Amino acid sequence: RAFNFNAGPAAIPLEVLERAQAEFVDFQGTGMSIMEMSHRGAVYESVHDEAQKRLLGLLGAPVGYKVLFLTGGASTQFAMLPLNFLTEGKTAGYVRTGSWSDKAIAEARLIGETYIAASSEDDKFMSVPDLHQLQIPENAAYLHVTSNETIEGTQFKEFPDTGSTPLIVDMSSDILSRSLDVNRFDLIYAGAQKNLGPSGVTVVIAREELLQNSPKHIPTVLRYDTHFKNNSLYNTPPAFSIYMVNQVLKWIEEQGGLTGIEALNVKKADLLYQAIDQSSGFFRGCVAESSRSNMNVTFRLSSEDIEKKFIKESEQEGFVGLKGHRSVGGLRASIYNAVPYDTVKALVDFMAEFQRKNG
Ligand code: PLP
Repeated sequence: RAFNFNAGPAAIPLEVLERAQAEFVDFQGTGMSIMEMSHRGAVYESVHDEAQKRLLGLLGAPVGYKVLFLTGGASTQFAMLPLNFLTEGKTAGYVRTGSWSDKAIAEARLIGETYIAASSEDDKFMSVPDLHQLQIPENAAYLHVTSNETIEGTQFKEFPDTGSTPLIVDMSSDILSRSLDVNRFDLIYAGAQKNLGPSGVTVVIAREELLQNSPKHIPTVLRYDTHFKNNSLYNTPPAFSIYMVNQVLKWIEEQGGLTGIEALNVKKADLLYQAIDQSSGFFRGCVAESSRSNMNVTFRLSSEDIEKKFIKESEQEGFVGLKGHRSVGGLRASIYNAVPYDTVKALVDFMAEFQRKNG
């Protein structure tokens, strides 16, 4: 297998792919693939329900939280959130941390009034803003935070207390990578294609009361209450993706749940950041130390030419996806849950060898 550092779609655990392969043609003796079955049948529905239960279980969510499986990616949530919650007379708070937060803000501005609650623009988004002293207006519909900026490589280590204002978090690139007190969040959403499985499904985990009464004028399929009332079976769900998410969730349980996966993620990130920090400036981390993401490690070399050489030679050695996002350049290693420690070790060894030859 390739050393896969893609930012998304990203690596899926080998064990999961092999299990899916084993039941790809004949799912549990039914003579059909799961993707050939009716989404209204008992077999598919049990997979659907099991995936929801596993997700809530892994997160340790208290009673009163519901999982939705939606389509259209996290990008559709950028629109659904303001459509459902940003009603007349309200304003929505957004924390500006970089590329993805800005897409979420742009979408909300099409729908209603917004304000910037905090921003790290002055630091060119190379850190996350301090959220301790946030002033939240009384008519705030919600506060939106991007927990991990996939492109810049920053990550919040703590989240604000927003009192009675709903805290809504885009966890597309770090969901299930660490333990979390779900009670502190009102709605969490994530596209599946980084830590949860293949693309095609977006998960929403939210307090039930937020999902029950959408404004009557918005289209049926864009209303949270439609999907809530129909257990995410209002229209045909991305059944195969949901089946794969269920398999990935099972795999996370086998790694010791979120505590186990977090310990492994910290170990992988420490290994890589240490290699960067101990290279005497040959490699340079892009992000302020306290805001560094444990999922997307962004770094640079002394010139674009040498970065190009690094990428080219890494590809020849079987490394995939180390080129930084086109909007920021440089290098990025995405080390999501499914990237094994040994893959990160292989990268660190390659980096040391590259430095020896080019330093
Ligand atoms: N939010 C974050 C933090 C992301 O990393 C991404 C995709 O990479 C998105 C949103 C958009 O997700 P999608 O492509 O599922 O719409």
